[in-house]
Amino acid sequence: MDNFDYGIIGGGPAGYTAAMLLAKQGFSVVLFEKDKLGGTCLNRGCIPTKSFLHSSELYSKILKSEEIGISFENLKFDFSKVIEQKDKTVEKVRKALELAVKNSGVKTVYEEACIIRENTIKAGEEIYTIKNIILASGSKPKEIPGFEFDGEFILSSDDILNITSLPSKVLIVGSGAIGIEWARIFSNFGVKVYISEIAEHLLPNADIEVSKRIERIFKQNGVTFYLKNRIEKIDGKTVFLQNGEEINPDFILSAVGREPVCNIEGCSSIIGDACGEIQLAHYAIQQAKKIALGTECHKDLIPSVIYGEPEIAWLGIREQDCDETYKIVKLPITALGKSWCDNSTEGFIKVITKQNQICGVHIVSKEASAMIHTFLVAMQNNISIDNLKNICFAHPTYSEGIAEVILGL
Ligand SMILES: Cc1cc2nc3c(=O)[nH]c(=O)nc-3n(C[C@H](O)[C@H](O)[C@H](O)COP(=O)(O)OP(=O)(O)OC[C@H]3O[C@@H](n4cnc5c(N)ncnc54)[C@H](O)[C@@H]3O)c2cc1C
Repeated sequence: MDNFDYGIIGGGPAGYTAAMLLAKQGFSVVLFEKDKLGGTCLNRGCIPTKSFLHSSELYSKILKSEEIGISFENLKFDFSKVIEQKDKTVEKVRKALELAVKNSGVKTVYEEACIIRENTIKAGEEIYTIKNIILASGSKPKEIPGFEFDGEFILSSDDILNITSLPSKVLIVGSGAIGIEWARIFSNFGVKVYISEIAEHLLPNADIEVSKRIERIFKQNGVTFYLKNRIEKIDGKTVFLQNGEEINPDFILSAVGREPVCNIEGCSSIIGDACGEIQLAHYAIQQAKKIALGTECHKDLIPSVIYGEPEIAWLGIREQDCDETYKIVKLPITALGKSWCDNSTEGFIKVITKQNQICGVHIVSKEASAMIHTFLVAMQNNISIDNLKNICFAHPTYSEGIAEVILGL
């Protein structure tokens, strides 16, 4: 029987971050992972989707680059190579992670862990006595009642990673981050994409203007979406939607959210997706830092980012939640010289303020994922708008849009 200060169940971002940080402080730590280190994020989420997105964007950009003087004859892509590149990326990142975990002194056990009684975990045939048990067991894709995953026609975000060729038509159910990113991947590769969303707008959690802008961009790109809609019936490969539309996709990607994997009692804390709160890798990491280092974890200051062209990022209060005491300023991305150089003028930076402080930021733009962090630092540290105006941003950049937009206040 082995004794440890900490036993952590789940080797995703929450689990491996907590494990390494605790081990670095001299605690003895055992990390249990039933599958692969890196969890959903590295193996089935953030990293593989961004690799697909990168390949698809490159292809789509080259296709459209004739107007800037770049053209290819017989431009084509080999989807098996795209998959190979995604696999290589995941493997490289995982290898680096495995090494970092090993070097930090954490003992990793590749078994399903089960808390059998207080301070006791069974994994494989081994029993571990542990002073503090942390549950970081993550989440799994949610199913649509009546239209459960079958791995063939109704796919989850896990199943979709197993496709070996591109469909010609796909129906995506749900337009949160996962649905939008996959819509972009498929659409960039020339696949006909349909989206069915139960809410009134795409990206229902976003600021209303962001949702409307994404709808406009999707329309321009030939993505068909149905709002306030749901699947009524599936007959063979024909999908009947509530609004009377009939679609014949090669398959459906069901992306209606994720639910916690959290059926183990007896742990001292639960972190990451298993909490069922904000299901993002960086929130999981922040929670792990809180447990291991006592750092702060501001739930209302967790940035959301949707990747692809243009990126979407937001933070804080949305326009639809504001009353007349808030002030809103907006800068179109066309105002930035850099956007014209990059041929990437779509989008805006919108800032919501009250009493000289920033309360919400909503960005649709190339490099939105980078820009949002400047606002985050300002918001978390109560840096006033007047103080932000003293900062000199480099030209030509997208970030100088931050300086420009707040000049309007
Ligand atoms: C398609 C997709 C794209 C995404 N993109 C992004 C993104 O761009 N940015 C972002 O921030 N987030 C993204 N996410 C969400 C992100 O992946 C999760 O928020 C993050 O992985 C949560 O980390 P976690 O450590 O809590 O759980 P997970 O990463 O789910 O890790 C949990 C681990 O626990 C293991 N486990 C569970 N039970 C046991 C047990 N009993 N014994 C041993 N091991 C166990 C599992 O095998 C798993 O490896 C995406 C998710 C998906 C599906």
